Amino acid sequence: MHFSASLLSGLALAATAVDAVAPSLGRAAPYSGCASNGIHNSGASTVNSPVACYPAGPSSVVGLSAVTNLLSSVTGLLGRVLGTIDAVTTTAQGVLNDANTCYSTCHTAQPTVILPNSNLGGLSLRAGVYLVGPTNVTVSGTLTLDGQNNPNAVFIIQINGNLNLAANARILLANGAQACNVFFQVGASATLGSGSTVYGNILAAVSVTVNSGSTCHGNLSALSGILNIINSVLYPQGTCNRVASAITTTSTTTTRRTTTTTPKTLATTTSNAPLVGVSVNALGNTIAVGATTTSGALGAGLSVNALGQTVTVGATVATTSGLGAGLTVNALGQTVAIGTTVATPTTTSGALGAGLTVNALGQTVAIGATVATPTTTSGALGAGLTVNALGQTVAIGATVAPGATTTCGNALAAVTVTVTATRRCGIVIVGGSYAGLGVAHKLLKTVIPSLDPKTPYKVTLISGSTHFFWTVGAPRAMLSPYPHDLSDSFIPIADGFTQYSEDSFEFVHGQVTALNTNERTLSVKLSSEIEQGSGGAMTQSFDSLVLAAGGRGPSPLYSIHGSHVLTLEAFRDLHARVPVATTILVVGGGSAGTETAGELGSTYGKTKNITLLSGTDRLLKNLRPAIGARAEGYLRKMGVKVVHNIRVESSKDGGDNGTLVQLSNGETMTVDILITATGRAPASSFLPEFLLDSRKAVVVDDFLRVPAAGPRVYALGDIASTSKGGAVDIKYMMPVAIANITFDLSDGRTGEAHEQRYLPSTKETQLVPVGRSKGVGAVFGWWTPSFFVWLIKGRTFMFPNALKTVLGTV
Ligand SMILES: Cc1cc2nc3c(=O)[nH]c(=O)nc-3n(C[C@H](O)[C@H](O)[C@H](O)COP(=O)(O)OP(=O)(O)OC[C@H]3O[C@@H](n4cnc5c(N)ncnc54)[C@H](O)[C@@H]3O)c2cc1C
Repeated sequence: MHFSASLLSGLALAATAVDAVAPSLGRAAPYSGCASNGIHNSGASTVNSPVACYPAGPSSVVGLSAVTNLLSSVTGLLGRVLGTIDAVTTTAQGVLNDANTCYSTCHTAQPTVILPNSNLGGLSLRAGVYLVGPTNVTVSGTLTLDGQNNPNAVFIIQINGNLNLAANARILLANGAQACNVFFQVGASATLGSGSTVYGNILAAVSVTVNSGSTCHGNLSALSGILNIINSVLYPQGTCNRVASAITTTSTTTTRRTTTTTPKTLATTTSNAPLVGVSVNALGNTIAVGATTTSGALGAGLSVNALGQTVTVGATVATTSGLGAGLTVNALGQTVAIGTTVATPTTTSGALGAGLTVNALGQTVAIGATVATPTTTSGALGAGLTVNALGQTVAIGATVAPGATTTCGNALAAVTVTVTATRRCGIVIVGGSYAGLGVAHKLLKTVIPSLDPKTPYKVTLISGSTHFFWTVGAPRAMLSPYPHDLSDSFIPIADGFTQYSEDSFEFVHGQVTALNTNERTLSVKLSSEIEQGSGGAMTQSFDSLVLAAGGRGPSPLYSIHGSHVLTLEAFRDLHARVPVATTILVVGGGSAGTETAGELGSTYGKTKNITLLSGTDRLLKNLRPAIGARAEGYLRKMGVKVVHNIRVESSKDGGDNGTLVQLSNGETMTVDILITATGRAPASSFLPEFLLDSRKAVVVDDFLRVPAAGPRVYALGDIASTSKGGAVDIKYMMPVAIANITFDLSDGRTGEAHEQRYLPSTKETQLVPVGRSKGVGAVFGWWTPSFFVWLIKGRTFMFPNALKTVLGTV
C-alpha cells in the first residue's frame, strides 16, 4: 500500500500553515472562564482573573465572590474571583462572542494529523491541527505539547464529542509551547478529573466541569451550557509571546453556539482505507505507526516510533525528540516498550543490542555504566529496574547469581552478582509542618543511624511552603506581630536541616500534585507561583512515603495556601486594617475562632463592634457544653457579641465599603473585616480517591500505614483518618509512625524495632486561651482552671516551641 504523492504533500503544507495562524480568543483571552448558561462553583476555588456569563444573568453565577485581592476572606467555602464577574453585560456578550468565534476558527481549521488514539495520555504532540478520530476522548496521565522552541507553535485539537480528563491527568507544555497557543475544540462537553493540570484553552460547545484540586491555565468556555468549578484554581492563559511576523488575526464572526457540531470524518486513502496509524519506511513498505516491527520490515538502518518518525537503528535517541510514547529502539532495530522488564534470556541473546539497554524513561544506557544514585532514584533507571555489568535489565530484588549486594539499585560492578536488597533508600515526606518536620528529624537523628550503614538512606522533604507556620500562635500574631515580628510566626524550614549532611537530606520546594501508587512516584510542581514564579515540574520516586500534608481552610490566615507568602501578606493586611476597623465579624465557634475573638476582645474591648458567629448552638463543640459556656461568658465580658445558630452563606468584598455578608437567617450585614475561622479539611486533593475516606482524609490502619497505597506508605497529622486534628494528636502519632517505619525498614531485624498501634484518645484535651489573661479547656478529660490555660498556652502562645519544631528539638 502506498500513499498518493498529492496527499502526502497536502499534509505537509497544512502543518506549515498552522504554524503561522493562531486563533484569537479576542476579548475572552484575559478571562479564566465563560459560559452561556451559568457558572457554578462549590468549594474554596481561586479564580485568578475575571469570568463572564451571557446571556444567563447574575443569578446563574453561584458560589463565587468577586474580590479585589486574594487575601480577602470570604466565607461559606465560597470561591474567590480576582476581578469582575461579568454577567449579562455588554462586556460579557463580547467575551462569549469572541469565544464562539475562536471555537469556529478551531473547528474549521484543516487537520494536519489524524490521531487514532481515544486516550491522548502519554503522547507528546508537536505543533499542528489534530483531529482525534474517536468521538469521545480521554487523557489519563500526561499529554505533552512540544513547542520545539518555536513561540508560534500552535496546537489545535479537534474533538467531536466529549473530552474527559482522568483524575490527576496533566496537559503540559514543553520547549517553549505557550498556553495561549493551545486550543481544545470540544464538540460536546469537557470534564476535568480531580487533581488535573491543564495548560491551554478548552472551548466546549456545551459545558465544562472542573473537579476538585485541579489547576487550569487558560480559558474554559462552556458555549451553550454551564461552567462547573469544584474547589480548584483557575488562571487565565497568561502572557503570550509570539514572533511578530507570524501573528495573524481572524475576522470571522459567529453567533452564539447552541448545538454541538457535526463530527468530521477521517481523511482516507485512494483505496478508502483510513490514514490512521500508517507510516512509510525507507524501503517503501507501509507499516503501522508504533507497531513493534522486526528488523526486516523496516529496511536497513531505520525504525519507526509512535509518532511515525523514522529513527536510525541503534542510535541513542533522546526521549522527548526521537521516540514517541512508550517506545524505544534497540541496536537490532526492534522497538521496545518503555519501562518494560526485558527477560534475561532475551537480553543476553542480544535483544537489546550491544552496549545499550533501555530504562523506564526510554533513555538508552551504556552497559556497565555506573548510574549515580540520585539519578537512579529520580527515575533514570525507572521503577523496579536496574542495569548490570552485562547490560541486562533485571527487576530490583531478583537474585541474579550469588555474590555481592547492590546498593540502592546502582549498576552492578561485578559480573557475578546478587541483587538481594529491596530498594528502600529514598524516604519522601510530603508536608513541612508539625508532622512532616517531626518525622524528618526523628528519621535523621535516630532511625537511620540505627539501620544498616551500608544502605545510603536519604530523606526528601517536599513542602509547598519554604517556611513553617506556627498556627498555634496565629490568633495572637495575626492581629499584631508577636512576640517580636512576623519572622517568629514563619520560620525557614532550611534552618532546621543544616545540621545534617547533604547526602542524607534534601528539601524540595514544591507542591505535590499527584501520587501514582503503582509507579511509586509523586508529581511535583516546583516552587510556588508566588514565591518564585513557575519553577517547572519533576517526578519524585520513593521507596517509603510519609503523607503529612495536613489540613487547609478557606482563609490563608489559618492555614498555608501553597506558599507561606499568602499567609504572611494576610497577616500584614490585618495588622494594617484592624486598628482602624469599626466592625469585625469572626466566623467559626471552634478553638481558632474563639481564640481570635478573645484576642480582639481583650485588645479592643468595647471600642469596636466585634461579633463571633458560632455557626452551631454553642462554642467549642470538642469540649463539654459547660466549658464552651464559660468561654462565651469571658467573651461577653470583654464586649464581644456571641451569636449562635446563624451561618454565613456568602460574602462579597466591597473594597473600601467593607464586606457585604449574607447570613443564613436572610439578613445581610456590612463589616469592615470578616475573619473566617472555619472549614478546615484534609489537604488531600493531590491523592487518588481510593486512598481517602468520606471526609477526604487518608485511610490509615492502626499502624498509621496506608494499606491501599502499597508497602511503606504512612500518614499522620491532620491528613490521617484517625486524627482528630491538632498538634497534640501528632505528638501521640509520632512515636507510633516512627516505630513502624523503623520496623518496616529493618524487616523487624533491629533488636529494638517493634510495631506499635495508634489508639486515639477518647478523652477531651484542648486548651483555649480567651484573651490575654483568661482561658478554658480540659486535659485528658480533666477540666482545667483559667489560670492553668493562661500559664501553659495563653501567656506566650507557646512561641518558644516554634523554632524548636523546626530544629527538631521540641
Ligand atoms: C489558629 C489555629 C490554632 C491552633 N492551635 C492548636 C493548639 O493550640 N493545639 C493543637 O494541638 N493544635 C492546634 N491547631 C491545630 C494544628 O495547627 C494542626 O493540627 C497542625 O497544624 C497539623 O499539622 P500537620 O503537620 O498535620 O499539617 P499542617 O500544619 O496543616 O501543614 C501541612 C504542610 O503540608 C504542606 N502541604 C500541604 N499540601 C501539600 C502538597 N500538595 N504538596 C506539598 N506540600 C503540601 C504545607 O505547605 C504544610 O507545610 C491550631 C490550628 C489553628 C489553625
